[in-house]
Amino acid sequence: MNIFFDFDDVLFDTRAFKKGFLDLFIGKFNLTVENFETSYKKARERDGISNYIFENHLKILNLEFGLSKDLVEQEVKYFAKDLSKYVIEDVKKSLETLNDMGHTLYIVTFGSKFIQDIKISGSGLAHLFKDIIVTEGDKGEAVSRLFKKNGYNKKKSIFVDDRINHLQKITTLHPNMNCVVMIRPEGRYTKKMIKDKNFSNYLSVENMNDLVEFIATDIY
Ligand SMILES: [Mg+2]
Repeated sequence: MNIFFDFDDVLFDTRAFKKGFLDLFIGKFNLTVENFETSYKKARERDGISNYIFENHLKILNLEFGLSKDLVEQEVKYFAKDLSKYVIEDVKKSLETLNDMGHTLYIVTFGSKFIQDIKISGSGLAHLFKDIIVTEGDKGEAVSRLFKKNGYNKKKSIFVDDRINHLQKITTLHPNMNCVVMIRPEGRYTKKMIKDKNFSNYLSVENMNDLVEFIATDIY
C-alpha cells in the first residue's frame, strides 16, 4: 500500500513546536510575546493564503527590531538540529511497523520550503519515507509528481491528513485515493473540526496506533 502522510499535526506536534520557536525568540533576541506574534502573523500573509514564510519573517525582524538575518537564521538552524521531542509519541514506532509490514510511506506537506525542511529534518523521521514533498500548491498535484517520479503502481493508496480541505483537493485529482482524517486531541484544527462535524464523510482516527490497526485489518 502507498501511504501518504501530511506532516503538521499528524506526525508532528506543531503547536508545541511553535511554542518552542516563540521561546527561542524571546530568550535569544529579547522579543516580547506580542512582538513575536505580530511579526509572525505578518510573515504569514501572502496572496491571501495562510502560509508562514520564514524569509519574510527574517526581513520583518530585521526592519522592525534590527535583528541580524544571519544571526536569526543561525540560531533557528541550531534550534532545529534536534526536534525529536515534537514528534508525537506514537509516530516513530508506528511508521517503523508500517515499513515492516511492507508499505511504502511518503510525506506530502503544505508550507514554505525552509521551515518545512528544517522541521522534517529535525524530526529524525525522514529515513522512514521513500520520498518527501513540500508544496506551496495543491497536494493532489504533489501526489501526481510522486507517482511520476517513483513509478506509478496499482497498489492501494491512502492519504492521512488533519485538514479536510486538503483531502478534498486530493480526491479531485485522485478519486481512488482513500482518505483518513487524523483528529488528534493535540491537533490545532481538531476542536473546530469536531464542532463542525465536518470529518464525518471520511474514515477518521485519533492516533497512529488506530491507523496501524485499520491498515493491519485491511479495512480498505
Ligand atoms: Mg496538517
